[in-house]
Amino acid sequence: MAGNITFSMIKPYAVKDNHIGPILSMINEAGFKISALIMTVITQQQAEQFYGVHRSKPFFNDLVEFITSGPVVAMVLEKPNAVEDFRKLIGATDPQKAEEGTIRKKYARSLQANAVHGSDSDENAVIECDFFFSSKDRF
Ligand code: ATP
Ligand code: MG
Repeated sequence: MAGNITFSMIKPYAVKDNHIGPILSMINEAGFKISALIMTVITQQQAEQFYGVHRSKPFFNDLVEFITSGPVVAMVLEKPNAVEDFRKLIGATDPQKAEEGTIRKKYARSLQANAVHGSDSDENAVIECDFFFSSKDRF
């Protein structure tokens, strides 16, 4: 399984801006199978744990506040080489540096509100998918 899954989340402003449909479409068109999906509001505790690696960064508190500010769409995606291929599909963290045609280039509002999250390693993909979904909610 490792290597074939990644975790993604459509972040609050992209949900508010009505970009769920087009983003899911891009994900499917890029060959990913959506094997779990939920629309939910993340609690502060979940956000602090999810972004724990950034705890010491100056933007941490703002990031937690932002990611808990409204519903997100969390999902498990499947495809060979999922982590790397999904990072290519979403583009650079800063949408101004993201390539044309990437999800962040098209739908991000800013560096913080950069439309989508994508796991950064196979190891973190498994941790993040398990964080949001039990096995009975994965198909
Ligand atoms: P993500 O983990 O959300 O997929 P990423 O892996 O491209 O994004 P990270 O370095 O993990 O980037 O940063 C996590 C998130 O923190 C970014 O997506 C962005 O929302 C926010 N962030 C990163 N750097 C900054 C910054 N300098 N100022 C404000 N927010 C930032
Ligand atoms: Mg990251």
